Amino acid sequence: MTNPKSYPYEAPQSQSLFDRASAVTPGGVNSPVRAFRAVGGTPRFMVSGTGPYLTDADGREYVDLVCSWGPMILGHAHPAVIEAVQQAVVRGTSFGTPGEGEVLLGEEIVDRVAPVEQVRLVSSGTEATMSAIRLARGFTGRAKIVKFAGCYHGHVDALLAAAGSGVATLGLPDTPGVTGAQAGDTIVLPYNDLEAVRAAFAAHPGQIACVIIEASPGNMGVVPPLPGFNKGLSELCRDNGALFISDEVMTGFRTSKSGWYGVEAAVEGWAPDLLTFGKVMGGGFPAAAFGGRADVMAYLAPAGPVYQAGTLSGNPIATAAGLAQLVNCTDAVYEKVDAVSAEISALVSQALTKEGVAHRLQNASNMFSVFFTDRPVTNYDEAKQQESFRFTAFFQSMLAQGVYLPPSAFESWFVSAAHDERAIEWIAAALPAAARAAAEARPA
Ligand code: PLP
Repeated sequence: MTNPKSYPYEAPQSQSLFDRASAVTPGGVNSPVRAFRAVGGTPRFMVSGTGPYLTDADGREYVDLVCSWGPMILGHAHPAVIEAVQQAVVRGTSFGTPGEGEVLLGEEIVDRVAPVEQVRLVSSGTEATMSAIRLARGFTGRAKIVKFAGCYHGHVDALLAAAGSGVATLGLPDTPGVTGAQAGDTIVLPYNDLEAVRAAFAAHPGQIACVIIEASPGNMGVVPPLPGFNKGLSELCRDNGALFISDEVMTGFRTSKSGWYGVEAAVEGWAPDLLTFGKVMGGGFPAAAFGGRADVMAYLAPAGPVYQAGTLSGNPIATAAGLAQLVNCTDAVYEKVDAVSAEISALVSQALTKEGVAHRLQNASNMFSVFFTDRPVTNYDEAKQQESFRFTAFFQSMLAQGVYLPPSAFESWFVSAAHDERAIEWIAAALPAAARAAAEARPA
């Protein structure tokens, strides 16, 4: 078994960059969860990535279990993606006109996800969900929306109520800057609670434009839908004239070739009205999308009255990278990612069990995370009851041994098809000490 690394706690080059970053950027980072606030210590500034490995500014190598928060399903610097980018970039970086790359990427998405009859490309998952909500409101002529506590859909004003991800990590109940008016039409319900949704439709007849859900949530840790929950939601939406928006920004093209749709809805024989995508479909570039029923999408400008636009939407480099990545996400890739995920999660669970650490390893296809609790986690309240101080100790030990985990107990772990035997052995060798650290941890 490969010996794990033993890195010092201090990371001088990262620290120096972080100090400079903190002078010019609030909190020193451009997205909050990167700042290590939940786990402490210096955020690592990465300089390169290859396959399942990252190298930081101090020259330390890590096995990466974040994969850029999901996008890098083929691993870092995949040759096909790099080649597509190199070919695209010399032709120019942005034209502000339609281009063939957008057509090809749009066709690939439509081919893979049956309910997507038409798709619109945007630059971030946040834009995708924001636009889908606007479209649902425009299409139905209704104002209210339903979301679930612990589900994160990007930093859309109306959706920053009881959101997961960085909001969960920082323990912010809501965020200043979102006005009562912006969030006032948002109804936040407990996840996996169909009765609560039924009651909301009864309390607000004819007023709910849409229900938005993470197809299978990963932003409060991995909390999959209970059997029948998503299908029940889609039926409630249909019966009440509301649209069902499945946010597949995280799960899309990761949990299967056609995302969580392929894992659940396609098997059960139903379809969301709108879906949102990001992460994997951009190949590491800012590309995202929303799409769905043609009659709904027809409401979008310039075909219809609901305005939506973007200077860099369908950017030629981003679409080239995204297309190259999707084309290379073959059945064999998904088999490999699923197998790697199963192997690593079993190793984690074995190590924690050996040290007597109460935990739940939860997964949704190849997305997984560990909750430090002995009870199943089915919603945000239950997720928050875990002993997250154990995660902090576990995280720090893994980091010191060169395994890069998401710096929060409320995030999914991500693997890639490039995670090889060396990477898995490295993780296996690091786990006993990390599990011991979790066992010995005490609340701060
Ligand atoms: N929706 C989900 C389910 C996400 O996980 C995220 C980001 O993590 C978003 C939307 C927002 O995407 P972006 O960060 O690209 O704006």
